[in-house]
Amino acid sequence: MNLADITTVKSILSQPQKIVIVPHKNPDGDAMGACLGLCGFLKGMGQTAHVVSPNDYPKFLKWMPGNDEVVNFEWQPQEAYALLDEATVIFTLDFNDLSRIGSMEAALKDRDADFIMIDHHQQPSDYAKVTYSDVTMSSTCEMIYNFIEFLGQTNSITADIATNLYTGIMTDTGSFKYRSTSSNTHRIVANLIDKGADNMEIHRQVFDTNSPSRLHLLGVALSNMVILPEYRTAYITLTQEELDQYDFKKGDTEGFVNYGLTLEGIIFALIFIENKEEGIIKISLRSVGDFSVNQFAREHFDGGGHDNAAGGKSDLSMQETIDRFNEILKNYKSELNP
Ligand code: 5GP
Ligand code: MN
Repeated sequence: MNLADITTVKSILSQPQKIVIVPHKNPDGDAMGACLGLCGFLKGMGQTAHVVSPNDYPKFLKWMPGNDEVVNFEWQPQEAYALLDEATVIFTLDFNDLSRIGSMEAALKDRDADFIMIDHHQQPSDYAKVTYSDVTMSSTCEMIYNFIEFLGQTNSITADIATNLYTGIMTDTGSFKYRSTSSNTHRIVANLIDKGADNMEIHRQVFDTNSPSRLHLLGVALSNMVILPEYRTAYITLTQEELDQYDFKKGDTEGFVNYGLTLEGIIFALIFIENKEEGIIKISLRSVGDFSVNQFAREHFDGGGHDNAAGGKSDLSMQETIDRFNEILKNYKSELNP
């Protein structure tokens, strides 16, 4: 964030504001951690602040401090509209374009409120009064920490704020192992522990609260995995029928895609998940090294994200989607075998 933006934000927050904070649709640990962490911080400053999520999120995030006050736009549209109608400031966190909030986009578009975007995805759209975008950052939570630091307020970080920010940094860095994890990330995380984030407990809450059906679904996913050594690629499919059979709940497939990358020699992993209700196949893509899944998802599957983690979708059937993917893959043989 440049000096002019910091000055703008300081001046906005020097007045009492009514603030709404919005994560992307299907928020993950980073999006919720950033929203709840920032919300706690702004309330501590004496501001009126609320988190409005476009839709529901997984159970393994629902222990986070402040969770009980989150308004779900899909389930509580009246409350959400009431907050948005009053809002003088709207923070949009962990996404780069209003299309990433799904049907909530119409509720945000053309509002007079001051928009402030904080995000680490590539190619941010230009809709905010202040855009703090940095694609080198491990997570939006790391950026929220920086944001608080820019305001000279790290002393105001409580144990609850620290817990939320720690959770987002931990989940978005794959527990501190992805390339975007810097020494500065570790310094921030160390500060958050000093401020009261209980790292062992947070890890346990997020990763060790599986249901038996989720582990059974993982078993199905792993046995469905197709390995294409000549493309150094592995992909998983899960049909709606398989999800139903194992009592699928939101978030149950989180992290499944990463198993492909644990295979020796595999640098490109995907999971294709059927969603009959939305009539799409949701795709998650991951890579290690220089192969950009952001570009791949943008070009072929109406998606995007980061160089090594992206998402997309297909309107075709599962079989047609896989056939199409296999066709597309042929053009990437040399890129995947540098
Ligand atoms: P995931 O595979 O975990 O859903 O998402 C991985 C990354 O890609 C996240 O940073 C997420 O924000 C981004 N992403 C996921 N789905 C989409 C999509 O449909 N469009 C775009 N532009 N980004 C996505
Ligand atoms: Mn993120």
